[in-house]
Amino acid sequence: MIVVMKKDATPRQIEDVAARLRHFGFDIHLSAGVERTVIGAIGDKKPAVLENIEAMPGVERIVPILHPFKLAGREFKPEPTVVQVGDVRVGSDEFVVMAGPCAVESEEQVVETARQVKAAGARILRGGAYKPRTSPYSFQGLAEEGLKLLRLAREETGLPIVTEVLSPKDVELVAEYADILQIGARNMQNFSLLREVAVTRKPVLLKRGLANTVEEWLMAAEYILSGGNYQVMLCERGIRTFETATRNTLDLNAVPVVKELSHLPIIVDPSHGTGKRQYVPAMSRAACAAGADGLIIEVHPRPEEALSDGPQSLTPAQFSQLMQELAAVAAAVGRRMASPAPVKW
Ligand code: PEP
Ligand code: MN
Repeated sequence: MIVVMKKDATPRQIEDVAARLRHFGFDIHLSAGVERTVIGAIGDKKPAVLENIEAMPGVERIVPILHPFKLAGREFKPEPTVVQVGDVRVGSDEFVVMAGPCAVESEEQVVETARQVKAAGARILRGGAYKPRTSPYSFQGLAEEGLKLLRLAREETGLPIVTEVLSPKDVELVAEYADILQIGARNMQNFSLLREVAVTRKPVLLKRGLANTVEEWLMAAEYILSGGNYQVMLCERGIRTFETATRNTLDLNAVPVVKELSHLPIIVDPSHGTGKRQYVPAMSRAACAAGADGLIIEVHPRPEEALSDGPQSLTPAQFSQLMQELAAVAAAVGRRMASPAPVKW
């Protein structure tokens, strides 16, 4: 349930209500909105307890949360969450583009890509050091060496880094290097991993599972939020359907659905969503028009040589062209984009 405090409730009254709820065995999550404070109380409710709380000074009303996700829902927090990563604000009026290679392969590859995507207006660098490959014989990523190269690319460009953490045992290490921890589609319901990334308090990009409903996805986010980490971004990356013309079916329905149900920002991944670079620009523009808060796009300086996901990676020139098209779409839907630095090709 949520306890809505009066507009003029004092900090003391809020603390008293929180203390009483804790005493009754509830887990407390505070949301201090511009207008008023809302206290999320997670636990079994007993009617006598509700009456007791409702009568306390400063309390306006008690509202049950009907959805199974509590902290991820709009009922708990009506205003959108903004996840701050350096000077980038995901979920604000800025349309944020994250870009970079699927996998970190070498210093030259990742630094060159970082420079080029930055010049085109990307705000965050992506790159995998731990890769969840379908085959154990495929390139698995450079592990810590890859994280070091990402750090170098950040030093060279100033771009914050988003990178995947595959296993609970690697969370501490990856968190030392990453600005955003990516939970991959295959791990969306790896609950011990979700609990572990909550502990770091670092921003998390939570990808939707290959065959998961929006509700299951929001319940996965709930694991991170209830662990005390509120900096969660959702990422729609396509789901499995009967369709084989594309690698996955990019579910853009999820954008307005998530916006209605949740306050968390939503990022769209048109690279994995389509699996084919020729479809990436159209789906990027569509995602922006649909109200996504940003995109994560795979870019490789020489996609034909990429060790993973070459067919869906844009060249830097294609990416730069797309960024210009996106600026027009973003403006049409009331979002702004960082102005790209002048690029020479
Ligand atoms: C990736 O971002 O390279 C990746 C493996 O994504 P997903 O988990 O969505 O398949
Ligand atoms: Mn990939």
